Amino acid sequence: MAQTYPDWIWHNGEIKPWRDATVHVMAHALHYGSSVFEGIRSYATPKGAAIFRLTDHLKRLFHSAKVYDIAMPYTLEQLAAACRAVVKKNGLDKAYLRPVAFRGLGGFGLSAETPTDVAVAAWAMGAYLGDGVLELGIDACVSSWQRFAPNTIPAGAKAGGNYLSGQLIAREARRLGFGEGIALASTGLLSEGAGENLFLVFDGALHTTPVASAILHGITRHSLMTLARDAGIPVVERDMPREYLYFADEVFMCGTAAEITPIRSVDGKPVGAGKAGPLTRRMQELFFGLFDGRTPDRHGWLEPLDA
Ligand code: PMP
Repeated sequence: MAQTYPDWIWHNGEIKPWRDATVHVMAHALHYGSSVFEGIRSYATPKGAAIFRLTDHLKRLFHSAKVYDIAMPYTLEQLAAACRAVVKKNGLDKAYLRPVAFRGLGGFGLSAETPTDVAVAAWAMGAYLGDGVLELGIDACVSSWQRFAPNTIPAGAKAGGNYLSGQLIAREARRLGFGEGIALASTGLLSEGAGENLFLVFDGALHTTPVASAILHGITRHSLMTLARDAGIPVVERDMPREYLYFADEVFMCGTAAEITPIRSVDGKPVGAGKAGPLTRRMQELFFGLFDGRTPDRHGWLEPLDA
């Protein structure tokens, strides 16, 4: 998919033209995957544009940096201001934001201390897994690649290097003609999608894989669990074997980019009626309702663009 980019980007403390935000070929992160990043969305709401759970995303960025001893040269408040500034400078309201912090140029070797480069990009992005997928759903497959074991690469840190695993899973799925891949954990039990968390529906209850199953602690996942509980929908966090994907009444994936994407088949077997099911639709209504005002923002998740 060809990507068109907006004019402006925030880089190391200043907003500059997109083409000028460049990195040296010897930057540490390019060689060793030593970057941490976030994916955040802003939405146009009846009360003005708002960035969804900006503070929680930036907290996760700082946690990820802590795991890899990546010194953050800016405070959370400064990065929040940078996020707002770059959305506004590009004249966006509904946008995808990508803060990234990485080991730059100035040290080599695995334990080198390097300066940290920080950038925040923002651009308009539609449905991540393709046009119409939020309504129609996707055909998914279980990947032949497993997620990393918890004592190898920490799944809870959103680091660039983790996404080698995600690329193997996503690219294999696309190569075989599927919309997305679902990975098993090193335990052999269900983990998550290449870049999305996973929910299965059984008898009107949401079941999602636990943090110990090598998943990223998704902010959308947490939001959906909270919205469901607020609405009296039971939520269970538990380990599940692969075949539960075939037994489930409904399956969907969620993430900032993927939002709530129904899964209509897994491994060529239809999920339930082979289309987005009623609880998936209900969760979409509750989630997207946050942005058009139908769902009250009880938890202060909509952080105004003009703060
Ligand atoms: N798992 C992985 C591997 C991801 O990359 C993402 C996207 N950040 C998610 C889950 C969903 O997380 P979130 O809802 O915080 O975007």
